[in-house]
Amino acid sequence: MAAAAAEAVELRLSRQERELRWLAAEVGRLKEPQELHCPGSASPELQRLRAENEKLRYRLLHLRRSLAAELGRAAPAQPPAGGEKVSSASPADAVNQIKEEKKKENEAVNQHQNDLQCVPSFIEDRLKLYEALKKEHDALLAYRAANQSKSIKITLTDGETLEGESWKTTPYQLAVGISQVLASNAVIAKVNGELWDLDRPLEGDCTLELLTFDNEEAQAVYWHSSAHILGEAMEGHFGGCLCYGPPVENGFYYDMYIEDRSVSSTEFPLLENHCKNIIKEKQAFERLEVKKEILLDMFKYNKFKCRILNEKVKTPTTTVYRCGPLIDLCKGPHVRHTGKIKALKIVKSSSTYWEGKSDMETLQRIYGISFPDNKMMKEWEKVQEEAKNRDHRKIGKEQELFFFHDLSPGSCFFLPRGAFLYNTLVDFIRGEYRRRNFTEVVSPNVFNSKLWEASGHWQHYSENMFSFEIEKETFALKPMNCPGHCLMFAHRPRSWRELPLRLADFGVLHRNELSGTLSGLTRVRRFQQDDAHIFCTMEQIEEEIKDCLDFLKSVYAVFGFTFQLHLSTRPENYLGDLEIWDHAEKQLQNSLNNFGEQWSLNPGDGAFYGPKIDIKIKDAIGRYHQCATIQLDFQLPIRFNLTYVGKDGDDKKRPVIIHRAILGSVERMIAILAENYGGKWPFWLSPRQVMVVPVGPTSEQYAQQVCNQFFEAGFMSDVDLDQSCTLNKKIRNAQLAQYNFILVVGEKEKANNAVNVRTRDNKVHGEISISSTIEKLKKFKTSQIANAEEEF
Ligand SMILES: [Zn+2]
Ligand SMILES: [Zn+2]
Repeated sequence: MAAAAAEAVELRLSRQERELRWLAAEVGRLKEPQELHCPGSASPELQRLRAENEKLRYRLLHLRRSLAAELGRAAPAQPPAGGEKVSSASPADAVNQIKEEKKKENEAVNQHQNDLQCVPSFIEDRLKLYEALKKEHDALLAYRAANQSKSIKITLTDGETLEGESWKTTPYQLAVGISQVLASNAVIAKVNGELWDLDRPLEGDCTLELLTFDNEEAQAVYWHSSAHILGEAMEGHFGGCLCYGPPVENGFYYDMYIEDRSVSSTEFPLLENHCKNIIKEKQAFERLEVKKEILLDMFKYNKFKCRILNEKVKTPTTTVYRCGPLIDLCKGPHVRHTGKIKALKIVKSSSTYWEGKSDMETLQRIYGISFPDNKMMKEWEKVQEEAKNRDHRKIGKEQELFFFHDLSPGSCFFLPRGAFLYNTLVDFIRGEYRRRNFTEVVSPNVFNSKLWEASGHWQHYSENMFSFEIEKETFALKPMNCPGHCLMFAHRPRSWRELPLRLADFGVLHRNELSGTLSGLTRVRRFQQDDAHIFCTMEQIEEEIKDCLDFLKSVYAVFGFTFQLHLSTRPENYLGDLEIWDHAEKQLQNSLNNFGEQWSLNPGDGAFYGPKIDIKIKDAIGRYHQCATIQLDFQLPIRFNLTYVGKDGDDKKRPVIIHRAILGSVERMIAILAENYGGKWPFWLSPRQVMVVPVGPTSEQYAQQVCNQFFEAGFMSDVDLDQSCTLNKKIRNAQLAQYNFILVVGEKEKANNAVNVRTRDNKVHGEISISSTIEKLKKFKTSQIANAEEEF
């Protein structure tokens, strides 16, 4: 019976696999680049092919699933021990034999054997090659340790020095010598300022720093190491080709090419389990330096790693790291072993493209997070939960602030309440501009590509710009205001007397973000910035930066944000005069020192065209966001040949441009504020400031009149005249809708020309005259205080 079943399975298997291969080939054919390489104009033929392709993919997926299910059922059907004798091979063997044959026949199908939980064959080959190389490497290291070792001096951060031996002593050994706790908490070492594996022998005299998880660089190493664990689990589970697996702001991800299979969240527990086992095994991270051509052979099964080798690796050798069966192309460094990861969680998956390019292969991306102890994971989960409740997309919907539509992806529709928020923020900054001598300008949205060629955007940024043809010339929507402002500066001769010239612009900007990366208001295609460009002399930088810092401090104080400041200085590929850079960086440092807030240095992190100050704000649930920018630019004035007449009559003086914004994108700031306040907007910014509620039908007319009075005084006021609701229900509804103040009015209030004031948090302030209520609210609005409801 079993044999008959196996035969049936075998028949179906080979039939399905034939079909599978045919479909795979068909999909491959449809994917052929030449067929898809007619950008823009999708011909009907291409559209038909694409639609067909989509259907084929779906069918392929379906077939593979049923094939996997079939094998899953077939496998346990072993003949009972001592049962009837089966002359031919067992059904399981038969299936295996078929699998074996097909493996040789078709590489693509082979990749999907791992759907069937098979270990891909490349793992073994890769390991064999690695082990041979490792032996050589260990021998070399042993030789060096035996013959080239000499005593070295290691200087710790506190100035203390330790003795060691080159090619023998490791940072980990030194850490143990200092304290066992430090040794076990250390995530990574820093040797001569360079991140260094804890178990990698030191090579000479050096400085040594031991970093723990609270250090940002160590965190990145920790999460990057976790990505290897995830990658190992993914190889075991899906078999496909690993691509990039970097740490990100909050955790890490690994991309894998698994043809047209997608990852489902139902697979997360299985993957997590796999990761747990890897962690339990405490697999050591081994470092090995290998010649590029050998690596091309080692990774020949994976065209993506080969691409990295060919396109990104410019040196004759590079490093691979091994943990368990995984050998990965990687610069490192890593934690000592996989057991260092105490808590690991898979967070989400999505699909993406190779290097983010939509004409390249589709990849599956799996995100994870990990921590050195379970408590930190619990805390992180709590913040995530809180963040989910505060999600601006949820608040935007509940409060009817904005929505998005498929017919204009990434461009927000702000409804009346949302538009109020938007304009209030813009007006806030506008008010500051008046006080701080910025002048607002209005500039075009559409420019000839010649402008973008002059600014350099065409060469470096055109992929992200919306461009089109007008009267045989190419035009584009502006992704930023600066080049337009350069034209404004240049439109007539400028004198030193006019500087600094501070041009502010709330112009609409467009950037062509990939549709897959769009996300609520945080990643959009259409946005406005509180953008300004300051044209000033070299000598004015310090004063201008001081004013910029003061500006952002006062704006963030209103929102209740604290912030961190980093100075990013000259990178290796900088353009321009070294002297100019030094002079400018010195002034930035002076401004920061005089500002009085703490700041730190990011050496070499500046843009090639000038140093900058990075500002990160901290929100109510402890997350950091980068919004403001203060960026110096020495290059744009050269590109546009901007000059002014100096005090000495020299008419070829070159100004400096300072790009600066405080809200950054108004859209994104609304998202951050919505989540920061959890939808409880402060009074001055609130799109629902006052709700008037009559106690009964006889007070309705008075309620309407009160509402009008508040509206005329400039407030967002509403009146609830719904007769089907009780008074209590109306008050409750207004509170839930986050009206800051609820004004209850009845006969008594009407007689006294007054209102009975309570707040959204149900604090009752009692009866107060209309005129003094309006007076108070006006004060709250201009002072922009955060807790008007309490202060009333
Ligand atoms: Zn790595
Ligand atoms: Zn700019």
